[in-house]
Amino acid sequence: MNPSPSPLATARAQLATAVQILGYDDGMHAVLRQPRRELHVAVPLRRDDGHVELLHGYRVQHNISRGPGKGGLRYAPGVDIDEVRALAMWMTWKCAVVELPYGGAKGGVTIDPRAYSPFELERVTRRYTSEIMPMIGPERDVMAPDIGTDEQVMAWVMDTYSVNRGFTIPAVTTGKPLAVGGSLGRATATSRGVLHAATATLRDAGVRLDEVSAAIQGFGKVGAPLARFLHEKGCRVVAVGDERGAIVRTDGLDVAALTAHVARTGSVVGFADADPLDPAELLALDVDVLFPAAVEGVLDEESAARVKARWVVEAANGPTTTEGDRVLADRGVVVVPDILANAGGVVVSYFEWVQANQAYWWTEREIEERLEHRMLEAYATVSQVSRAEGISLRDAALVIGVRRVAEAHLIRGLYP
Ligand code: NAD
Repeated sequence: MNPSPSPLATARAQLATAVQILGYDDGMHAVLRQPRRELHVAVPLRRDDGHVELLHGYRVQHNISRGPGKGGLRYAPGVDIDEVRALAMWMTWKCAVVELPYGGAKGGVTIDPRAYSPFELERVTRRYTSEIMPMIGPERDVMAPDIGTDEQVMAWVMDTYSVNRGFTIPAVTTGKPLAVGGSLGRATATSRGVLHAATATLRDAGVRLDEVSAAIQGFGKVGAPLARFLHEKGCRVVAVGDERGAIVRTDGLDVAALTAHVARTGSVVGFADADPLDPAELLALDVDVLFPAAVEGVLDEESAARVKARWVVEAANGPTTTEGDRVLADRGVVVVPDILANAGGVVVSYFEWVQANQAYWWTEREIEERLEHRMLEAYATVSQVSRAEGISLRDAALVIGVRRVAEAHLIRGLYP
């Protein structure tokens, strides 16, 4: 068995497939493949005990042909330049699939945030932001939370950028607290978008959410609200997992009680009203819908061969490798790809940016309605291309996203 390919290898293989379907030449392929700009910065941190530690940070703008770069900031021990490149490329196609006037970007710091105090995380964030200042801004590159970062981190980024510029610039980040120009509905937008994508996919198969069971890998900013929304729609959420372990209850988890347990203990592990589950078994559970909502590469050739779910809805970015995709397709599993399924977060980030630029805020209802509309439109376009061309939902989404970006390149022309 080969080792799982890196996220960058997966992202590049996906692009190569789309380029082949679209019939683009090597020049266009090379332009679409290569990040436009990337910055690797040293982030020296004074720890609370006084000693200095050197961390590494990255910001990659994969493509900015359709507008400013847009993408999350990740704090995780495994962050490296290639992971950030892959995540930035996926952001480019994702923003194009949901027709946002953005390119794709991503940032990261190689750090385990749980091992640092809030004061240390604030210093890391402010120094990292200062180092990448020339690259970011509301018209250049706009950040949002990702794994290991949250609305507080976005507030520190916004404050650092604003203090250095001399005035308040809320539109430099999204996913901020409401008190400093955040948007209603942003915190749960990714999960709501996943719910809309799942509902539309099941509807195409003549199935309702209240008729199915689900397992969710990851119980963070995306996985936890997703569990709640699925439960509210009558779906039986039978298993969830996080970095520390997994739990199962075949007649359905009490999601509210579980959420309270996680708020208290920091993990799903030890929840009294469920049985412990080997995390490796979560992906192979006998459920109707599997929602990977944690990290990249979890569905590779080996684990994909054990999936029993009929649908995989990718709440995480890049959870399925190219080999994993092939195995799932051979077994008739329908995969709703990340660049469609989890686009709700960047859609409401766009709404937050628009509101901040206008200094006029919308109601929660307006946001929820516009989010649902955009997700269902994007799903309809992707599924129509998938049927018309006889290709998977992933290839259809990639073809749509890549084509829109390539069109922008061609229309803008090559300078000089
Ligand atoms: P988070 O840090 O809030 O939560 C991550 C969750 O995954 C945690 O429960 C963590 O314990 C778990 N986890 C981490 N490593 C794991 C592993 N190896 N096995 C099982 N569980 C593991 O992050 P998040 O914001 O919820 O992001 C989750 C995924 O969704 C990522 O792929 C991210 O890029 C993607 N995503 C997030 C957003 C957003 O708005 N936050 C938007 C689009 C996509």
